[in-house]
Amino acid sequence: MEKLYGVIGDPIAQSMSPDMHNSSFKALGLEATYKAFHVTPERLESALEGVRGLGMGGLNVTIPHKVSVMKFLDEIDPLASKIGAVNTVVNENGKLIGYNTDGMGYVTSLKEILQEKSLENSSILLIGAGGAARAIYFSLLEEGVKQLDIANRTVENARTIINGQPSSLSKAMGLLEAENDLHAYDVIINTTSIGMYPNKDDIPLSLHNIKSSTIVSDIIYNPLETRWLQEARAKGAITQNGVGMFVFQGALAFEKWTGIYPDIDIMRNAILTKLGGTHKC
Ligand code: NAP
Repeated sequence: MEKLYGVIGDPIAQSMSPDMHNSSFKALGLEATYKAFHVTPERLESALEGVRGLGMGGLNVTIPHKVSVMKFLDEIDPLASKIGAVNTVVNENGKLIGYNTDGMGYVTSLKEILQEKSLENSSILLIGAGGAARAIYFSLLEEGVKQLDIANRTVENARTIINGQPSSLSKAMGLLEAENDLHAYDVIINTTSIGMYPNKDDIPLSLHNIKSSTIVSDIIYNPLETRWLQEARAKGAITQNGVGMFVFQGALAFEKWTGIYPDIDIMRNAILTKLGGTHKC
């Protein structure tokens, strides 16, 4: 019998996850389908009951349910607990288990472009302190990095994330302070929504202080190349957009549901076709 998977969110019409997962099911010849479901906050609990009742294989969870879904699950994976959010639910015979693949999706995409550099020796700056930053921060910590700082408009939100970590590993700062210190970092990651369609002309901070060969990464994928990434490229940085993170978080979720790690190029092509672009990274 065909297995049903899906993504829940509010809004959800713009989701590209169905294209990505259905292309993988098709390529692998699996009898499965993936749909987008519009679920409002007051319907979240009944939607999760529906997953059990219908025997669905699992779900992706997106805005605004990544935190609130946790109380309706039977078990939460340790990394998702640290992050404090779930983006993937696996239905194991009626037992719903929550995972977070966003951060590890990002880490996998970063490893693709690190080339001869290693994560353990890298000094990394995260810009932003929202849900995506939390996921990336705790996933990078799992990998072990030399330095992992957070700059944010509201410094208190950055402090909340790094709370409990040694000051030699992580510090929180404002955006202006970060701007002056950018030469200290090997990898700079924008996790804010600044530069995202329709506010395409805004940048999170000026890159005038970066050293050459810095990796500048923006987790936004619409547009495929933000103005900030254009500026980074003009300064000689190695740049990366958010398609990789999106594709790898999807691949890791797919593996949790099916036990099969899917073909990344098939997933990436499904997304790039949808976005109408060809930027590989
Ligand atoms: P979020 O929880 O709402 O956090 C937003 C962050 O952006 C906060 O740090 C916020 O700062 C900052 N921010 C927003 N507007 C700002 C402004 N005008 N000036 C300065 N800072 C501003 O959002 P999120 O869930 O982390 O998502 C952030 C971005 O990541 C979105 O663009 C989303 O599409 C993208 N994303 C991509 C992927 C992927 O797979 N590629 C996955 C998840 C998210 P304050 O703390 O000061 O409010």
